[in-house]
Amino acid sequence: MRTSIATVCLSGGLSEKLAAIAAAGFRVVEIFENDLVSYNGTPTDLRKELTALDLEVVTFQPFRDFEGMPEPQRQKTFDRAERKFDLMQELGCDLLMVCSNVSPDSVGGIDRAAADFRELGERAAKRGFRVAFEALAWGRHINDYRDAWEVVRRADHPNVGLVLDSFHTFARKTEIKSMRSIPGDRIFLVQLADAPWLDMDVLSWSRHFRCFPGQGDMPLLDFMQALRATGYDGALSLEIFNDQFRAGSPRSVAVDGMRSLLYLMDQMGRKGDTAPDVPKIPPRATCVGVEFIEFAVDDRTADELERFFSGLGFYKAAQHKSKAVARWTQGAINLVINKEKEGFAHSHYVTHGPSVCAIGLMVGNATEAIDRAERLHDTPFRQKVGPGELEIPAVRGMGGSLLYFLDPTSALAKVWDIEFEQLADDGGRTGAGLTKVDHISQSTYYEDMLSWLLFYTSLLDVHKTPQLDITDPGGIVRSQVIETADGALRIAMNGSQSQRTQSSKFINEYFGSGVQHIAFATDDIVATAARLKANGVAVLDIPENYYDDLEARVDLNPERLAVLEANNILYDKDADGEYLQIYTQSFKDLFFLEIVERRGYKGFGAVNAPIRLNAQSRLAPDAAL
Ligand code: MG
Ligand code: MG
Repeated sequence: MRTSIATVCLSGGLSEKLAAIAAAGFRVVEIFENDLVSYNGTPTDLRKELTALDLEVVTFQPFRDFEGMPEPQRQKTFDRAERKFDLMQELGCDLLMVCSNVSPDSVGGIDRAAADFRELGERAAKRGFRVAFEALAWGRHINDYRDAWEVVRRADHPNVGLVLDSFHTFARKTEIKSMRSIPGDRIFLVQLADAPWLDMDVLSWSRHFRCFPGQGDMPLLDFMQALRATGYDGALSLEIFNDQFRAGSPRSVAVDGMRSLLYLMDQMGRKGDTAPDVPKIPPRATCVGVEFIEFAVDDRTADELERFFSGLGFYKAAQHKSKAVARWTQGAINLVINKEKEGFAHSHYVTHGPSVCAIGLMVGNATEAIDRAERLHDTPFRQKVGPGELEIPAVRGMGGSLLYFLDPTSALAKVWDIEFEQLADDGGRTGAGLTKVDHISQSTYYEDMLSWLLFYTSLLDVHKTPQLDITDPGGIVRSQVIETADGALRIAMNGSQSQRTQSSKFINEYFGSGVQHIAFATDDIVATAARLKANGVAVLDIPENYYDDLEARVDLNPERLAVLEANNILYDKDADGEYLQIYTQSFKDLFFLEIVERRGYKGFGAVNAPIRLNAQSRLAPDAAL
C-alpha cells in the first residue's frame, strides 16, 4: 500500500502544503477542491508543480450530492461531474471521489443510486477516468460502507469502485468484519483517520477532532487487518480535519502523518503481517528508567541550582573529566549540571535560559532505539565528542531538547565511569530519601500535544492514559500522560489554549516547550519532609481549607491528617492506593520539583492540581512558574 495524504490535513497555501508533503516523503497526494480553488494558478500550473515535486494525485475530491437526485437536478449533477472531469484532465488525475448525498432533495434506494453510478461510470470510462463512492457517516440515505459497497456492486461497472474511510466506519460503530469479503480490486481508495471517542454530533466531531492514526482511540489496526484481507493494494491516504493541525506548521504535520503511517504498518508487522510494505524496523524501545536529567545553566545559576539540589539531599558525586559538567546524585537519580560555554547545552541555555536541556533514558538497546527513531523520521542529534568521550545516541525532543538513549549492555552503561571523575563516596550522607524519578512534566503548545504524543508512543514502548482537563486559575489546562506499563517512565504533557494558565506562561517565559517540573519518588514522604525542613528548603504552603476539605472527603484519622497539614503534604487515593505529594517552591520562577510517595496509586493527583496551581499563583502572581 502506498502512503498518501490529503492536502486538507495541512495549513498554508497549496504550494506550501505540497512542498511539505513531498519533503515528508509522500509520493501520493489527494487534492481537495478548496485548495485548488484558492490556488494561485491554473490546474496545468499545478500539474507542473506536482511533477516537479514527484507527486502523483490519487484523487480529486470531494464530489458532493450526486446519487439519487430527482430530475432536473439529476441532469445537473452529471453536468457538474463533466466539469470536474475537465479539471481532472488538466490536473492529470484519474479518480473522482464521490461522497454520499446529504441533500434533503435526494431519494433513497440502492438500485437508484447504483443506476446513477453506472451512468457516471460510463461517462468516466469514456474519458479514461474512474469514480469512487464513499459513505459519509452523516449521509442522508447511504451512511454505512456496506450500503456503499452494495451500490458499487450493483452498479457493476469496472470504472466504479468503493472508498473506505476509517473515521466514517468507526464513527457509527459499524462492524468491520464485512469489509473482509469486499474484493480488493473493487476498493479504489482507503482513507485513514483516527479520533478520540467523543460524545458529540458526528459532523462536528469529524470536522474538528480527526487525528492521525495512533493519536486517537479508534482501532485502526483492526481496520488495517480487515483491509489486508481484501487484497487491497492501493493508496492509504490520511484525511484529517483537525483544528490543532490547522494551527501547526505544514512541514511538521506532514512528517507526523508519515510517522503515523509508518508506525501503523510497523504494528501490522508485529501482528505477523509480512507484506513488503511493512517496514522492517526495531521494536519500540523498552524504557527501563530515567538515567539522568541534564540542566543547562550559566555559572551564577549553577551555584544557586547546586544549593537547591543540596537542600533536597543531592550531593555532587562526579565531575566531567574535561567539561564544566557535574553529576549530582541521590538514590537512582542523576542530575547533570552543565555550564559549558559551547555545544548543545549552551545553545539551549542561550535560547531558553536555565532549563532542562536533555533527558537520558535507559533503554533495552540504545542502537536500536536511535535506528527506530531515524526510521520514523524523528530528528537524530549528533555533536562532536571529545577524546575519551562516548557518542551517546540522541534524538530531538520537545522544545529542541534532547532525548539520549543509554543501555545496560554497551559501553554506554559505563558513561559515568568513562567520562566522569568520581569525587568521593557519599560520606555516609543520608540524603532526603529520594529514590528515583517518578515523572517528568512538560509544558507544550496546545497545538503540538498530538504531535508529541505520537513522537513518544511511536518511539517508546509506552501507552497513553485518557486526557484530563485541569482547572488553573488562568483557564483550562489539558494534561496527557504517557507511561510504561511498569511506571519506569512517566511523562505528563500539559498544554493550554488560554494564555493565562501557568502552563502557557511557562512557554512564553521560557521561549518554548520544555520541562516544567520533575517529581521524585520517596518511600517515606514524612521523613523526606522533615529532612527538607532541616535543610531549610521552602515548600509550597498548602492552605488549611484544603485539609478541612480533605477531612470531609476521605477517611483519614485526625493524627494522620495533622501530619499531612504540618508538612504541606497533598493527599489522594484511588482504588489502587494512596498518593502523597509535596511541591517545592519554584527555582527562580523557572521550574519546580515535586516529591511523591506512591502506595500502589497509579495516577498523578489531578484532584490536587488546582490547589497547587492556586498556591503557586498566589506566590508569583506575575511571574511564570
Ligand atoms: Mg473521507
Ligand atoms: Mg499550610
